[in-house]
Parts: sequence; structure tokens; C-alpha cells
Amino acid sequence: MKNYVVYLKCIDITNDGQGICKKDGLVIFVKEMLIDEEAEVKIIAEKKNLAYGIIDKLIVPSKYRQESLCPISYKCGGCDFLYVDYNYQLVLKKHILEQTFKNMDLNIKINDVIGADNPYEYRSKVQIPVNNHEFGFYRKYSNDIVEFDNCYIQSKLSNDIFKYLKEKLLNLRIDKYIRHILIKHCFGTNEVMLCLIVKDFNIPNIEELVNDIIIKFNDIKSFILNLNTRNDNVILGNEEKVLYGKNYVTDIFDGIKFNISLKSFYQVNYEQMRKLYYLAKDLADVNDQTKLLDLYCGIGTISLFMARFCKDVVGVEIVKEAIENAKLNAEINGIKNATFYLDDANNEMDKYLIDKDVVIVDPPRKGLNDKLINSLINSDIKKIVYISCNPATLARDLCKFEGYFSFDTVYPVDMFPNTKHVETVVLMSRVELVV
Ligand code: SAH
Repeated sequence: MKNYVVYLKCIDITNDGQGICKKDGLVIFVKEMLIDEEAEVKIIAEKKNLAYGIIDKLIVPSKYRQESLCPISYKCGGCDFLYVDYNYQLVLKKHILEQTFKNMDLNIKINDVIGADNPYEYRSKVQIPVNNHEFGFYRKYSNDIVEFDNCYIQSKLSNDIFKYLKEKLLNLRIDKYIRHILIKHCFGTNEVMLCLIVKDFNIPNIEELVNDIIIKFNDIKSFILNLNTRNDNVILGNEEKVLYGKNYVTDIFDGIKFNISLKSFYQVNYEQMRKLYYLAKDLADVNDQTKLLDLYCGIGTISLFMARFCKDVVGVEIVKEAIENAKLNAEINGIKNATFYLDDANNEMDKYLIDKDVVIVDPPRKGLNDKLINSLINSDIKKIVYISCNPATLARDLCKFEGYFSFDTVYPVDMFPNTKHVETVVLMSRVELVV
């Protein structure tokens, strides 16, 4: 049965931010419903013991509910919590983390989430799909494009560039060549990389577009075409062509210069990145004798940030462009005690672990594989600082370290305000066997 309306009270929230209600043995997940809210809910899908609903009429709103700034946030897949007061978002994220770790039987304290001073206009990278003359973000769980005029979590400059570019592409009738628009905006220097991911390098009037936009926005220091003729979900293709400027942009973070190529990862929230890195440094408790290994090092941001406080640092990363950036970044900053290797962290890591005191791991959402976990357990490493963007895989991995490393606190940092995502840091210390 579906499409009927029931009166429900929300009692909890799921990991991905949906309200949880219960009625007559049925668990009902309701989109955008906050704890303690009461509403008439329309059931849109029902299975044996569970159902999905949407609010038909909100009867008792939460005091933490606010008007979303964004007229399309209810359908765009980007933001989950724009309708929630920011401080309460932090409370919810802490609560979600508590549930995640409790479900894994991990007895660990979750600290308060370190919030952002400005939960808007923080993102430094945006990828916008283009299809059938439409420019926007994907609707949740779909490939439909939801168009937007202004994205409230993107920087103002990238919004301005996007709006201008969209008009130009439409006027020149060349939008059909474009699959994605990618903009990287460095908050420390204001440098911008603009990349069009295209189906064909030969685009009529593209020079006209480039000449126009670099005059209009002189912060654009790199204009790249990236060719992607594949038919999958991967955004970037292999070949690229620089139409203007450099094939990278340069940011300055905490006094260090970072060159960032198209394919290299860079944290999307500049302000929170500082809080994250200083937190990691404090937990790692490094000093001028510390030998540090930074796994999943990207362009060497953490490595070079830490190198100033350590004896030496080694960074390992799988993306070639990123490790090239990292090596050059050490050089342009005159940092001599950092070395970088192109390698897959799923390969044998033992050789990098020899003689190290502290390891920082900052893996992608899927977390660490068992081989690496075993190498870390069997090494002489005393301390691991685990930075994670996915609490579920962090909790899973921590269970595997239990007995070998001890940990008592999760330190969350809100790198992604207004979305359900949260970054966390955990310090793991070697359990010393008493003989
Ligand atoms: N610590 C960096 C990057 C973190 S993002 C920073 O703070 O900027 C995770 C990084 O892991 C990305 O650069 C990604 O390219 C890299 N990566 C993904 N899988 C990997 C693997 N199997 N081995 C090594 N690096 C990997």
C-alpha cells in the first residue's frame, strides 16, 4: 500500500539524515523530518516492516527548523541540512556518530563537532553536469539535472564564473560539447582553475570563449579542456589540453604554497582544513625527533604542514599528478625533510613503516584494506592518526585495530556544513604488553 497519509512523530535520525518514525510495527523513514517533529506523512513506498514517507503537512515543527536559503535544496542531491539551524546540525552529526560507533559495539567518546564560522560559501571545488542544455546538480539518487542560479555552499566567485560561462556556452551554442564544468577556487590566493570536460576537443568558437572569460575574470589562472569519451560515471578523462595559463593552480595554506593539478585532491573547505590539520598535529604530538609517514598524502598538504614540526616526513599517494605536485611543492617551499613516493597503499607498505614513529592515514571513503591494517599492527609504530571522511568505514577499521591499538575519542570536524557528511580524527596508541 502507498500514497496514504499517517500522523507521525519523529523519534530519531538515520545516518543519512532522514527522520525515523514508528507506527503499528512499521518503521517509517521520512525525508527532512527532525527529531520531535509531528506531521501528517504521505507514505510513498512500503515494504514488509518499513516504509518511506514525505511530509504532507508539518503540524509541530522543530525549533531548529529554519527556512532554507536555497529554493532547490529539497530536490538537489547536494545539501541535506540547509533547513536545519547550523548549531543543531552539529548536534545531529555528533548524534549520528554516536549511533554509528554504538552499532559497532565500540566504546568510544564522541567529542563535540568543531563547527565552521561560516557554513555557507565554503566549497572550493565544484563539478556541474551539463546535459541537454541543462546545467545543475544531480537530483538525489538520480541522473536528472536540477538547475540552480546560485549554490549557497560554493564560493561567490565560482558561482559568478559558472553563471557567466553558462550564458556564454548557450549563446555560442556549444554547450552540447560539454559533459561537466569543473571549477577549483583557491581561497588563499584567489586563483581559479576552470576545466570543461568535453566529448570532443574540437569545439567551435572555444578560443573566443576563453579570451572573453579570462578578461572578465582575471583570477582564472588555468583553463583546461579534459577529454572524456567514456560512458561511465567517472568525471575526468585521461587527455587534457591547456587553453590558457598553467595546468595547475597555486594556493597558499598556513604559509605554504601548494600547486594543485586538475586530478589532484585538495580539501574543499579551506577554513576547516586548518582546524583539521592542527587537530591532527596536536593528536600526533610530533616534535623535532618525530619520523612521520603520511599515507594517502595527495599533493603533500599534511606532509608539508607537518614537516615543519618533525624530523622527517614520507608521503605516499596513488595519483601520479598529485605526487608530482607534492614533490614540487616541497621544492618550491624549500622543505628538505619531506620525500614522496608514488604507490598504492594497498601494496606492501612495510618498507615505508620501518623506523617511523607516527603514521597518519587519510584514506578515501572506503577506508583501509586488511593488508595495510595488518602491516600497521605488525610494525613498530607507536601512534596512528586516522583521518576519515566516512564514519562507517572508520568504525569498521577501528574494530580491527582493537587489542593492538587503544583509542578513546573521536574528534569530528565539520568540513561539509549543510550536508550529512562529517570528517573525523582518531588517535590510536600502541597497546603495550605487560610481561
Ligand atoms: N591527505 C590529503 C589527501 C586526502 S584524500 C589531504 O588532506 O589533502 C585521499 C587521497 O588518497 C587522495 O589523494 C587519493 O588520490 C589517494 N588515494 C586513494 N586511493 C589510494 C591508494 N590505494 N593508495 C594511495 N593513495 C590513494
